[in-house]
This record gives sequence, structure tokens and C-alpha cells, in this order.
Amino acid sequence: MATPGGPRQGNFPPNYNSNALANNMENLQINQSNQQQSGNFGGSAYRPPNATPFGQQPPRFSGSRPGPPPPGVFSGGQAPPSGPAQTTFSPSLVSARSTEPPAVTQPAFFTSRPPPPGASPSSIGGPATSAPSGFGPLPGPFPSSPLTSRPAFPPHMVTSGPASNGSPSFTPVPSQDGPRLPPAISSMPRPLVGPPQPPTMLSSGPSSQTLQMRPSFGARPSGASSAIGQPAPPFSAPPQSMIPPSGSLPFSAPQGMLQSSGSPYGMQTWPPQPQQVAPPPLVSGHMQQPQMFGMPPGPPPLPNQSMALNQTAQSKINPNQIPRLTSSSAVILHETRQGNQANPPPPATSDYIVKDTGNCSPRYMRCTINQIPCTVDLLSTSAMQLALLVQPLALPHPSEEAIQVVDFGENGPVRCSRCKGYINPFMKFIDQGKRFICNFCGFTDETPRDYHCNLGPDGRRRDADERPELCRGTVDFVASKEYMVRDPMPAVFFFLIDVSMNAIQTGATAAACSAINQVIADLPEGPRTMVGIATFDSTIHFYNLKRALQQPLMLIVPDVQDVYTPLHSDVVVPLSECRQHLEILLESLPTMFQNNRTADSAFGAAIKAAFLAMKSTGGKLLVFQSVLPSIGIGSLSTREAEGRTNVSAGEKQAHKLLQPADKSLKTMAIEFAEYQVSVDLFITTQTYVDITSLSVFPRTTGGQVYYYYPFSALSDPAKLYNDLRWNVTRPQGFEAVMRVRCSQGIQVQEYSGNFCKRIPTDVDLPAIDCDKAIMVTLKHDDKLQEGSECAFQSALLYTSIYGQRRIRVSTLSLPRTSILSNLFRSADMDAQFSCILKQAANEIPSAPLTQVRDQATNVCVNILYSYRKFCSTVSSAGQLILPEALKLLPLYILALLKSSGLRSDGRIDDKSFWINYVSPLPTPLVIPLVYPRMIAIHDLDEKESDDSIIPTPIPLSSENITVEGVYLLENGEECLIYAGDSVQPNVIQKLFGISAVAEISNQFVMQQQDNPLSKKVNAIINEIRGQRCSYLRLRLCRKGDPSGMAFFSYMVEDKIGSMPSYVEYLIHIHRQIQNKMP
Ligand SMILES: [Zn+2]
Repeated sequence: MATPGGPRQGNFPPNYNSNALANNMENLQINQSNQQQSGNFGGSAYRPPNATPFGQQPPRFSGSRPGPPPPGVFSGGQAPPSGPAQTTFSPSLVSARSTEPPAVTQPAFFTSRPPPPGASPSSIGGPATSAPSGFGPLPGPFPSSPLTSRPAFPPHMVTSGPASNGSPSFTPVPSQDGPRLPPAISSMPRPLVGPPQPPTMLSSGPSSQTLQMRPSFGARPSGASSAIGQPAPPFSAPPQSMIPPSGSLPFSAPQGMLQSSGSPYGMQTWPPQPQQVAPPPLVSGHMQQPQMFGMPPGPPPLPNQSMALNQTAQSKINPNQIPRLTSSSAVILHETRQGNQANPPPPATSDYIVKDTGNCSPRYMRCTINQIPCTVDLLSTSAMQLALLVQPLALPHPSEEAIQVVDFGENGPVRCSRCKGYINPFMKFIDQGKRFICNFCGFTDETPRDYHCNLGPDGRRRDADERPELCRGTVDFVASKEYMVRDPMPAVFFFLIDVSMNAIQTGATAAACSAINQVIADLPEGPRTMVGIATFDSTIHFYNLKRALQQPLMLIVPDVQDVYTPLHSDVVVPLSECRQHLEILLESLPTMFQNNRTADSAFGAAIKAAFLAMKSTGGKLLVFQSVLPSIGIGSLSTREAEGRTNVSAGEKQAHKLLQPADKSLKTMAIEFAEYQVSVDLFITTQTYVDITSLSVFPRTTGGQVYYYYPFSALSDPAKLYNDLRWNVTRPQGFEAVMRVRCSQGIQVQEYSGNFCKRIPTDVDLPAIDCDKAIMVTLKHDDKLQEGSECAFQSALLYTSIYGQRRIRVSTLSLPRTSILSNLFRSADMDAQFSCILKQAANEIPSAPLTQVRDQATNVCVNILYSYRKFCSTVSSAGQLILPEALKLLPLYILALLKSSGLRSDGRIDDKSFWINYVSPLPTPLVIPLVYPRMIAIHDLDEKESDDSIIPTPIPLSSENITVEGVYLLENGEECLIYAGDSVQPNVIQKLFGISAVAEISNQFVMQQQDNPLSKKVNAIINEIRGQRCSYLRLRLCRKGDPSGMAFFSYMVEDKIGSMPSYVEYLIHIHRQIQNKMP
């Protein structure tokens, strides 16, 4: 097991074979060895404490983050899917579609195509309840079973079982049912300020340029070219000398100051700029000035640590002193409570190991402010948002203690009888332990007889330290019968594959089939795992996978207006009974449809038919879609063309294209959620598919959108496979319900994320996994009394993939305060920004982008204004004061304004994908999304290698990009590799095996070459993939073409188009604050 702070074990050296595409997928020897994983549990076999009522024991932990596992990881002893299956992805497949004869082994009936819609007269206009005589010409047992007559299981989960008196027992075993996942949210992107800029990089510009602030920064970012040494930005004159406040500390790295004139900003204009801005000049000599700000000598109440950016008479800024992200490779050890007080958590993006000493780990629940304002007035004065970011199944660090499972027997966990809050370390036992006071509603309950225990001299129960529910912030309770309205559902995986002409011809169908075929080995074994498969173009084709049949049988549903489906028992079959059939079928499908000329897609009908097949069980519906749905229910039109040709002209109404076109899809999605069917969409396309409309399924059912645009049969199959694999193997739960409870005086205002909500207090999650977060905004409904703490508790009732019904309960208890500066001091930057980002994303479909951008800036201005006005001890109006905890807020907001979601340019589908990506995004991935990590990779050979695999990140400014350099930039979703104009040929050769960058396709496969540089780069990419739990699409970017523009659009500290540089934005913010000052 890795020791805290020590090197991580189990990083297998990549096992490369440089030539096979499949091996590129095997690059991902992610993170943890099998040994380490079992080491987490002391090597003892995992036994569910509840003697599993469902018979299916979870295997010992296995699995890894995205990417094929190291050999032998799988408990079943199955080798990870590897090369051979992947060979179907030869790029030649794309062109081979119509020339090759069908495979000889293909079952005869696979060659017969479904009749055109309506060819089967009996199906036309037939009522849904009629026998499915329209299943086409194929033979097959189709006992007609109208779906409408299927027994419907009430989907409601009971969340409010009574407090019970059972004799509790708990089992100190890990609760993770699925693979416990490794490591490393390590070295999250905390780009470090680079070394001071060499003087040659800096040019002194004119000293008094004028500023012309725009109300908003809406403009098309252009692919900027590196323009070092271009005319200097407005802040060039020497600063006025400053008198540091007494008691101020010597300047240290993260602090800085910005000096500029106290002169009116209104008289300045942004100078015409090149696309990249050279750094504001650093005039030698000024570095020696006492640059000390921020930390006034600690008068009570303890002021917030803050930093002041001065603007003095000459608009002078030292760019090296503005707040930047800092990175530290050190692992932080975090105890959630110390000395009976809540301990503010480390940044979400840092590498930390949590010891749960009463409060839940910040991985599971993080509050935007770590002290709770007593009044709504205090909160509104701060202008900050009070919200929780809840990620109930988040991956723990491998060195963290496992969550304990507590079994109270048939009575279920002890709860408050009034508010139903779950027993937790902050419920106070009184009366020799005979009664307890609820920390949420204040109600006093009798302690259940079997749960009674005397109190010790400290007033705590004598057994408190032995009972996880009394000493841990997070526990898993075994759910009793009262929490079930039916037996826990089986793990059902239904694959729905687009086989329309486009999907076939682009290789998307083959990629999907191959990915599924490999992933079958990763599905949980045992009788409770069920699978089904269907394909669709203008009709829907089910496959009877029953073992009794010699070959999989195709069953065609031609009616795409009024959909029905074959018998559930024929098309959703235990995996153990159909594995072979399924494999044969998946290998055959691409050839079966290779001559398909049907361009239409009956997506809506297909997804509905698949739903009907799964309705009785619920489960995961994994849809592979390549074109715009064009026929049948829920068909869509290409509305993108309707207003997107002229972006600026369409700007006012453009956001309406980000509202779903068809309400019927939403209605369907809600029905899916009701029956515990969750939808994941894998969009492998080269055209507009209206993600906005399609994504209502994942958004409503706890699913996810994966987007491969433009789909490349060469490079995308690897990502598709890895995404699918992670999707089915990551820790997850089904048929879940979540609720957050708060102490009196605070209540939940709103939940935001991918779920369905039928009653105000709960969210329904047909599926939830370790990567999904839910934002919970809070509001006051009363004044809080100072003194005691304010508690929050999230309870997630879910069924594990192995059929155990569990309740994951996380409790966070935070101090209350009536002091404004305490709020600023305890603000959580990453959580705050998560909220701002998610709220902006939610706003995009309903407001013009300029408005959304203005709102984001206003949030920043209002918070800083409040701090400036009420908390700062610095009196100079020329200073921009940033609270230490929030000093990066302007940088993040600026990066947000320049993100693909908030920029004015870009394709509608890209924007829609961004909105969907953000919706369930966990906090640790929010920062890299807007402020990606960039590293230089051309000189790795020359660098001294320390312990960390990933080199120190570089700030996102084009001044850090040289023409000889090669850079890797990743945001958790994609990975861009930019090669400058004048990279040494031998570097290109080493990295890519080719001497000229021009010869490499934009969508490419990073093959490992046999040299140290290439090996290092591959190791870095693998490490990043493991950290992000994402395979990351690789894209090569070149100067002078759109790919280069895409790369430079990430240089968020630059001026991009009419969007300001970081320094300019700070000035803008400062000016806005000054305007508000009385
Ligand atoms: Zn209560």
C-alpha cells in the first residue's frame, strides 16, 4: 500500500507494442497493481456483511481506471481484452464495407434485411397492444406480449423507514462493491508559475495607454499565433513607489500586486492588440521594491489573508505577481475534524489523503463555505453562494481507510423519528444514553433499547469510537426490507447500436461492436448480470440470444411510430447463458450490415423499444448513435443550419438551439427514469446530431454523453472502448434515490445534475457512479443561533452492481459564524467556482451568451467588492484586494468566459456537449476544464526527472510557447499536442516516428517509439488518463490551421480576440469594484 506522501506503488510500466492499434489501448496500465488493491483490504476476501440475500458475492476488488487493466487483474482470471478483437478496426474497414462479401460464417438469416417500414401490413397502424406480427419475415418465436401489459414495478424507493431498534452490528469491511479504484487524483493541475520571464521576453511599451472596457467580452477567439515581443499592453510605466502597510510580510510567491494608476480607467482604451499579448513589462528595479501586501498585522477579528493588487498612477503591472495556480507534488494528509472542530478541506484539485474523523471526506461532500453564515443577510452581503457539491460514490484515495458497512439488521439504521435523519457522530446522547437529540431538527428520541449504551465522562457514548456510525462521517448502511419495494434489481446492460449507412461507412458500427465485445469480459459475472442487444436504422432489430437457439435470431420491429418489443425473456438474457452467442453476433454485425443503404435513423423508436424490453428490470441502456434521428417518434431536423451560418446575427436567439427541440423525448426520458432505466449515449458522428435533444435521456436518467466528433475510425475506437469499459466497471449503483438534509434554519434550495426529480426533496437516479456529482444549493429559512454547528447529511439509497441494497450516508458538520470575514477566510475556491460554472452552464440555453458572461463577471465583482468594502483593512482606492482563499477567482472566471461553452463561436453540438459534460462534473475536474494543464514535452530528455511523472505545468499564456517546442495540454476530456514551426526534426522523429509534423493526421494514435523521449511522453499520457479517469482524445495541433487555433484558444491568460488578457481582466474587475464603492 502506498504510504502517505510516498511514491505510489503499482504503476506498471507501460507494456507497449508499438505497432498495434490495439496495443495503444493497452497503454493504459493504470495506476494500481492488483496487489495494492487487495492490500487496501488487508488481503482478506471481501464479504458483504449481510450474507448477501441475493447470492451473488462480489468478487474481490479488481479493476482500474480507464483503460485495459493489467493482465490478471480480473478476478475471473480473464485476460483483459486485447489486440485480436481490435483488429476489426483497421482503417481499411471504412472502405471495405461494400466490396467485401459477407463473412462465410454468417448465419443465413442475418443476411436478410428487414423489410422497409410498412412492408409488413399487419404492423401498420396496429395498436401497441396488438401482437407483434410485424416482426418482419424472419422466423422466430414471438409470443406476443404487448408491453403495455407488462407488470410495472413501482419505481419509488422508500427512503423513510422508521427508526428502528434492531441490534446493530457492523462489519468493518470495505463497502465498495465494485472495483476499488486507484489512485491518484495526484498532481492535479496546479500549474505552477514558471520562472521569471527572461528580460528579453518583456518589452516596455508606452506608459499610458488607455482602457476602454467593454460591458462584456463576447467575441470570437481567434487562433492566435505566438507573438512574443509584440507591442506591450497598457501597463508599462514604472509604478509609483508604494509604502507597504506596516506589519506586512515580505512578498512571497503566490502574492503579488498590481500597480497602476489611480487615474480614471474610463479614460483608457484597450490598445489594438495582436492576438497574443506579450506580458506586461517588468521593469527591472521594481522587483526590488518592497512588494508587500495583504497580511495586515493580525488585529481581531483575524482578518482574512488577502492580497492586494495595486493600481498606481502609471498602470503598471508586474505579471509575475498576479495570482496563479501553484502546484505541489506533496500529498496532503487531511483529518476531517481536529480537536472537535471541522477542518477545512484541501483544494479539490490537490492530492490528498483523508482520515475521516467525524466529518465526511470532502470527496463525498464539499461546501462552498466552511463556516455557515447565521443569517441570510450575512450570506447575501458576502455575495457568495452557499451550496454543497455531493459526489456520493467518489473514488477514495487508495491509501484511505475503506468506508465501513453497518448492519442494523431487519430494523434498519437508527434514525430521527421526526426528520428521518440518519444516526451520525453529531447526534447527542443524553440521559445516560437513553435518549438522543437530532442534530438536524433538534427532536429528542428514545434510544432504541438494543442500541442503548452508557455515556462516558466526556458525555459521549462509551462505544462511540467502536461504532462507525458514531465516529465516521461516511458509512454504508445495509438497507433493510423497508427500503425495498421489490428485490434489488439485477445488473442489466442493453446495447443499442446504430447500423444505418453512415454508421457503417464511417466505421462507427464496427468500433461499437468491437468495444462491446471486449467489454463483455469486464461485466460482473454471475446469474444477476443480464444483457441484451439491438440494432437500428429505419427499423429496429432485436436478437434472441437464448442458448437453446443455435444462432442468434434477428427479430425486426418495423413500426417506428408505435413501438413494441419482443418478449423480455428472449432479448434480455443472463450473460452466462448467452456469452458465446453475443460474441458471434457482435463479430458478425458489421458485415451483416455492410451493404446497408438505409440512411434514416429511428433513434427515438429504437430507444423506446429497448426501454420496453428492459422495463421490467431497469438497467443500463448503452446507445451508440451516429446520425441525426430522422424518422419515427422523436425524429429531429437539422436546426443548426437555421441560424448558425451567421453567428453574430443569430446571437440573440442562438441559445434557443440549446433547448431540446422535441418535448416527447423528455416525456420518454422521465418514463425511463421511473422504471430505473438509465441511458448513456455514445455519439460517434461526423455531422450535427442535435445533442441538445438527444441528451435529455442521459440528463434525466443519471447517464452520460460521450462525444466523438468528428469520428475517426483510426483513432477513436481506442477511446470508445476505454470509455465503455470504464462506464461498466467503475463503482456505481442502480435504482438510487438521494436526499440532502440540513440543520434547522437551512434548507435545500435546488439540486442540479443528471437525475430525475418527481418530488421536491429527493432526486431519483436510475444510475449513479463514482464520477457523478450533484450540486445542492442551500438557503436560509431562519436565523441560526451562534455557537452550535450546522450539519448536512446526504443519504443515497442504491443497489450495488451485485444486488446489495445500501444507504451511503455522509455527514458534514460545520461551525456557524456571524462574522463576514470568517466567510471569506473559509471560502472553498474550487467549490465556489464549481457552482459558478454549473450555474453558467445551466443558464446558457435560456439566455444570450453575453448575458451569461456578464453574470459570471458580476459574481466575481460582487464577491470582491464585498470583501474590499467590509473586510479589507487596506484603504487605498488604487488597490484591488483579493481574499487569499479566493485569489484565483478572477483567473477562473476569465477562463470560464473563454471556454467553449461561453464563447460566441463554435458548433451548437460542441456547446451542447460542453453543457452536458459540466452538468454532473465533479469538482476536481472543474478547474482543468477551464484552466487545462499544459506541459512541455520536447525537452523531457534533458530535464532532470524527479519523482513525479508529470512535469511542472506551464501557465496558459502564449508567451510560454516557443516555435521549437512541443506541448501537451489536457483538460480532462481531450489532450492536445501542439508542435511549433521549428521543432527539431529529431524531436519529431522521436515522438511520432515521422520527420515532418505535416505528415501526421490531426486525429492520431500516439504510438510509442523505441526511445526514452517517446516512452516518457507515453507514460505521462497514461498517468494523466489514470488521474482523470478518462481516456482523453488525442489531437495534434499545428500552427496555421484550425487545430492550432483550437490550441491557442486555451491560452486563457492571453488576450484572445476582443476577450481581455488576464491582466486586463484584473483591471476590468478592479474598475467595476471601484465603480461600486461609495
Ligand atoms: Zn431530526
